[in-house]
Amino acid sequence: MKTLRLILGDQLNYNHSWFARNDDNITYVLMEIRQETDYAHHHAQKVIGIFAAMYNFVHYLRKRGHKVMHLLINDPNNTQSLTKNLDQIIKQGNFTRFEYLLPDEFRLDEQLTVYCGKLTIASSAFDTEHFLSSRYELKEHFGESKHYLMESFYRMMRRKHGVMMDATQPEGGKWNFDSENRKALGKSTSVPAPLLFDHDFTEIWNEIQHSGAKCIGNPDAEHYSWPVTRRESLQLLRYFTDHLLPLFGTYQDAMSTQHWSLFHSRISFAMNIKMISPAEVIDAVVAEWRKRPEEISIAQTEGFVRQILGWREFMRGVYWVNMPEFSQMNYFRHENKLPSWFWNAETKMNCLHHAIKQSLEHAYAHHIQRLMITGNFALLAGIHPDETDAWYLGIYIDAFEWVEITNTRGMSQFADGGIVATKPYTSSANYINNMSNYCKSCAYNHKEKVGADACPFNSLYWDFHARHREVLEKNPRIGMVYKNYDRMSPELKAEVHERAAWCIDNLDRL
Ligand SMILES: Cc1cc2nc3c(=O)[nH]c(=O)nc-3n(C[C@H](O)[C@H](O)[C@H](O)COP(=O)(O)OP(=O)(O)OC[C@H]3O[C@@H](n4cnc5c(N)ncnc54)[C@H](O)[C@@H]3O)c2cc1C
Ligand code: SF4
Repeated sequence: MKTLRLILGDQLNYNHSWFARNDDNITYVLMEIRQETDYAHHHAQKVIGIFAAMYNFVHYLRKRGHKVMHLLINDPNNTQSLTKNLDQIIKQGNFTRFEYLLPDEFRLDEQLTVYCGKLTIASSAFDTEHFLSSRYELKEHFGESKHYLMESFYRMMRRKHGVMMDATQPEGGKWNFDSENRKALGKSTSVPAPLLFDHDFTEIWNEIQHSGAKCIGNPDAEHYSWPVTRRESLQLLRYFTDHLLPLFGTYQDAMSTQHWSLFHSRISFAMNIKMISPAEVIDAVVAEWRKRPEEISIAQTEGFVRQILGWREFMRGVYWVNMPEFSQMNYFRHENKLPSWFWNAETKMNCLHHAIKQSLEHAYAHHIQRLMITGNFALLAGIHPDETDAWYLGIYIDAFEWVEITNTRGMSQFADGGIVATKPYTSSANYINNMSNYCKSCAYNHKEKVGADACPFNSLYWDFHARHREVLEKNPRIGMVYKNYDRMSPELKAEVHERAAWCIDNLDRL
């Protein structure tokens, strides 16, 4: 049987069983297509990175004797549509069978299911052999309940995969070491420089521009710094375990004007396009902890393992159980537009200026910047989740819908009404000031709630909670907020709401 096998740009699993043996009857196909460059307003580094990683993957497969077609973005035969290209290739190559790897994104899964339904040749789908849980394992774990607790899912995953377990009990006597983590960066803390790769991708960038695809952010094409091969992905992981893991958990939530990635691994892009697997990342981290127990505490290790074995797999489960409805949810009925400075970082709010500037520069911001700076602001300012989603899906190098939308619409915007998080992640300037040095050089005063130089986060914070009191007050984790709100004098409350209204009416001027 002459078989065509499709590999999508985020399915570059070097260790997939498909490649274990060579077969002259099998041809693999990878495509650079406008359908994929244009479904979001992507950061240039994301498109360059995926194209370069695909190019290297094609090279790897060909070197191992596999037959591979690589359809380039400016090839005159490229229709720029996944299914039209497939039609053309199947017809011209007289293929009698079509196979593909299950996509991670709902829209591609739908597209390929419909396509195969109409195909006149046999077809089948295969697992990507990447994740540690199946698409619907979350549903099996929680049954019909719509409110999932990540912690419960994570414990099940620890037990199932025997990660950091002492028979049936967690190593170190507890499941979660969060209370020992999450400190602000000290003045004397030395932060290792991030490991950057130096590639010249000017040619790829020229081709992308020539195709007409529109991107945002700094392309950094001459000195492109993200990993684009499996070897580089493993190097990045090694760098993390050698230099960053010892303080990963401690400074997981810290933010700084001087450091854009601090002690974070920056492994999400390599993992999301599957050049490296979650199992090998977890194994490497646990092995390093066992090798250097004096330098690496269990709190650092467990904190990191939880992100991958817990949050990453959990978000994928939430996605598959709740799509496509999830993408329409807007619990607070927010309608505002994203301020224009989300696209150029030109705001006087120093925390947002830094978080957005580094996102445009590096296609990266770490978790707390995404959650407690940009996400927190969008939520308090009542931005429509469609706008927020589109921004996050475009700007980050690691943004693929299954993990982007669950984090943005779910964890950050609470637009799902509590499927992902037990309460909205909000804060006033106090938290931002405690966890960063942003406020020290800001045009606004982090201590003030009202007045022209008062930090907008403060009035927006109280205004948000007052606006949504009816639904939020019932939440036992939020009760304290209303006790504090009720202690404010009526005059102060009125001024706070006035300041918040001004901020919302003048978002572009903040
Ligand atoms: C609003 C918002 C949007 C986000 N969008 C994305 C996205 O598009 N793609 C993406 O991969 N992550 C996303 N995240 C999760 C997280 O911020 C990134 O995974 C992380 O910042 C990637 O950097 P890192 O590899 O240095 O992570 P580290 O801090 O070193 O963490 C290690 C790994 O843990 C995993 N991880 C950590 N937190 C999460 C989480 N909440 N959900 C899923 N995996 C997690 C990631 O794979 C990450 O690489 C988002 C978070 C928020 C709050
Ligand atoms: S004062 Fe407000 S706007 Fe300025 S950095 Fe602090 S939290 Fe951000």
